[in-house]
Amino acid sequence: MSASPIPPAAPSGEDAPTLLVKIFGKDRPGITAGLFDTLAAFAVDVIDIEQIVTRGRITLCALVTAPAGGPSAEGNLRATVHSWAESMHLQTEIISGRGDNRPRGTGRSHVTVLGHPLTAESTAAIAACITGTGGNIDRIFRLAKYPVTAVEFAVSGTGTEELRTALATESAALGVDVAVVAAGLQRRAQRLVVMDVDSTLIQDEVIELFAAHAGCEAQVAEVTARAMRGELDFEQSLHERVALLAGLDEGVVDKVRAEVRLTPGARTLIKTLKKLGFQVGVVSGGFTQVTDDLRERLGLDFASANTLEIVDGKLTGRVTGEIVDRAGKARLLRRFAAEAGVPLAQTVAIGDGANDLDMLNAAGLGVAFNAKPVVREAAHTAVNVPFLDTVLYLLGVTREEVEAANTHE
Ligand SMILES: [Mg+2]
Repeated sequence: MSASPIPPAAPSGEDAPTLLVKIFGKDRPGITAGLFDTLAAFAVDVIDIEQIVTRGRITLCALVTAPAGGPSAEGNLRATVHSWAESMHLQTEIISGRGDNRPRGTGRSHVTVLGHPLTAESTAAIAACITGTGGNIDRIFRLAKYPVTAVEFAVSGTGTEELRTALATESAALGVDVAVVAAGLQRRAQRLVVMDVDSTLIQDEVIELFAAHAGCEAQVAEVTARAMRGELDFEQSLHERVALLAGLDEGVVDKVRAEVRLTPGARTLIKTLKKLGFQVGVVSGGFTQVTDDLRERLGLDFASANTLEIVDGKLTGRVTGEIVDRAGKARLLRRFAAEAGVPLAQTVAIGDGANDLDMLNAAGLGVAFNAKPVVREAAHTAVNVPFLDTVLYLLGVTREEVEAANTHE
């Protein structure tokens, strides 16, 4: 009979006695230094620290190794920490245990909730919904309080798709916006954002601005509405609407460019994305006469749209070149991604209309922005507040980071 093999040594400290030291009270300078200075006298090692300050109250949790010297040394440590905390008017709790934190479950996602306002009722329903999928909420923190309250939940133990499905139903019922994205390095590497233009990057429908100058607003608006509801083939509707502009003087192009109103938060979104090293593009069923100008003004990396034909200083009522329709938008997303050297899974697409759906589904994260119900229901996630910069929170960017990106030139 052979000798029993020697069992491999347990990883250092895996099951060693540890102490969780929790401090709570009015925050002021020196608390963290004071606690660790007190612990240092017992030569303990730090395994984990979490500290947060909410409305001037500090919660500091330190997980440390138990001091050498057994129960008497531990008793001494407890008495010393309690007496220090008392002198600082802080509450403290010390819990004995073994080893490190329980490892987080597999299947990790970030759930971002945008509320305007965020009610306790919605928060309860979302937390219950996460638990209902078998997920565990490991961490919660606030990303922003302006222009909406944005809170991120770090969830483990369940699939990203399962969470997305469960929360999509719940969020629609609650009237809050919820985005679910897989955790991991890929999230930080999202490097291309492609936006629709009309009613997404800008508040207007460009063809309607042209139509106002041609005196055919009502006819054009009617065709646009039908196309956006998915009732009409986009290409057909494009030709039909552009035909109504035949004979317009090309000077109208400059007037329309000046009339375009950016969506609130558009500049902040683009500036922040650029500072983060993202590439940003637009695709539009509208016209290059406007998107080229936007590219220039906003410093966009990519822009593509239909081109109004102009002959002898007049609009002919036709478009030239490749038609940008529903399929065209998805094709352009792929093309921009290839040119940017970004895998499709790391792209973000934002749009509001039925002709954005292929693009939204092709992207790693498709965001329906104040969209028609048909789009909202099909997209990965929806934003229903009229601020484009809130999309940043879905990417895990905090308001502080947004402000830092927009303060220093
Ligand atoms: Mg649109």
